[in-house]
Amino acid sequence: MIVYEHGNPLNYELKLILELFVPQSQIQYTDKRDEFHNGVTEGAFGLTIESDGNKTVISSHEAFSAKVLEQRTLFALENSFKNRFKKHIYQLMSESFDSLSKWGTLVGIRPVKIVHELLDRSVPVEEIKPIIGEDYLVSPEKVDLLIETALRERPHLYPHDPDLISLYICIPFCPTRCLYCSFPSNDLQKKGKLLPIYLDKLIEELDFVVGEIKKIGKTIDCIYVGGGTPTSLDEQQLERLLGKIKSHVAIDEIKEFTVEAGRPDTITREKLEIMRRHGVDRICINPQTMNDQTLVAIGRDHGADQIIDVMALARNVGFKTINMDLIMGLPGETVADAEKTVDSIIKMAPENITVHTLAVKRASALNESRETVELAHDVTVETMLERCDAKLRAVGHTPYYMYRQKKMIGHLENVGYAIKGHSSLYNMRIMEEKHTIIALGAGAVSKICYPEENRHERVANFKGLEDYINRFDEVLEKKKVIKSL
Ligand code: SF4
Repeated sequence: MIVYEHGNPLNYELKLILELFVPQSQIQYTDKRDEFHNGVTEGAFGLTIESDGNKTVISSHEAFSAKVLEQRTLFALENSFKNRFKKHIYQLMSESFDSLSKWGTLVGIRPVKIVHELLDRSVPVEEIKPIIGEDYLVSPEKVDLLIETALRERPHLYPHDPDLISLYICIPFCPTRCLYCSFPSNDLQKKGKLLPIYLDKLIEELDFVVGEIKKIGKTIDCIYVGGGTPTSLDEQQLERLLGKIKSHVAIDEIKEFTVEAGRPDTITREKLEIMRRHGVDRICINPQTMNDQTLVAIGRDHGADQIIDVMALARNVGFKTINMDLIMGLPGETVADAEKTVDSIIKMAPENITVHTLAVKRASALNESRETVELAHDVTVETMLERCDAKLRAVGHTPYYMYRQKKMIGHLENVGYAIKGHSSLYNMRIMEEKHTIIALGAGAVSKICYPEENRHERVANFKGLEDYINRFDEVLEKKKVIKSL
């Protein structure tokens, strides 16, 4: 495929939509007419976008003859110009290619926000369905998922209380690096010697942040310790961190306190007991798959049996809300493997199950080994998601939050399921972006929300451990933004 652009005001959006039909590696972009014409006459499908700042003309061209197939004109002053631009590109493309996505022109990470915006404007639910279907060309089943999720979230998110703040605390260490990981997480074997000094700095940041929050009279009511793998900390380190948190907050004011234990090979009875003692009421044990062969292939140091043992241990210690993350589309897995995983997760009866679609991120080892690793077909992963959904609903789990990522197989989605009364407040808040989350530690990104102005600001800490430690004064300086709340 070849694309001619002249003055295109929405180059980024164009690329996002084209990628739903044709891989970027197979698209040639040019600003030279001759080159475009030659490309089309040699057999490439052609698209031209020409704009003079006022009007934008989008045309598709037939391969070989270079004849204009269809042409549409948009005016910059039209309402929702961006949405209409994406819709026209999508429609022109779908006349010649099969769409790779059921999400139409919705390419953002948080599609549920659109439903919330419509509900905020008092648009009745029955009118939302056709609006999303027609304006964004989303398939009916995905529209249903959006509406169902938004309606389940709303009682937890509205009305907004600007005096409530969530804390995110990052432990960016893991025992090994998973094949698909793109997080700025550090291998304990290689960077473990920095962990004690990192923890010192993290606690200093926590002291500072809590002090700033208290000064402005706000309340911390939700805490999430994530990573990496927070249980990479040993027992003494975990006791120190959680004890410090407990000394700063009134645990009975905390609505939810999660530790993403994550990897079963880092969890011990003593660590679980420390968490319970310090008020943690939700943990994550993330198998991703219950297939031993796949666990080895993705770089895990544990088998499926260990996941079952750790889950039993966590119940025995008294945890009442446990999340398990799964990934659909892991290399080599079939629909039957995915079903086996879900069946075995259901047997363990976690209250939350988050079903992810594999995303091949640029910074992952998986991306580097794409030549040798065979990825599941889009349709296969879609079937996996459908089977998971049916099995989970049959045992009382329903979707309560969802998001999408770039580079997901089949341009699909991640869906968090919960049984009644166990939806994670933090997960809903982070997707909806109207609630302030102060994030601490290397790679952590705070979201400072100003709901009256309908905007939020992202304030990022340094990603690298060394920068976080060595430029710590700058980390604290940035946190002074809390005063603006
Ligand atoms: S456990 Fe999570 S953060 Fe750690 S390496 Fe695996 S994917 Fe990355």
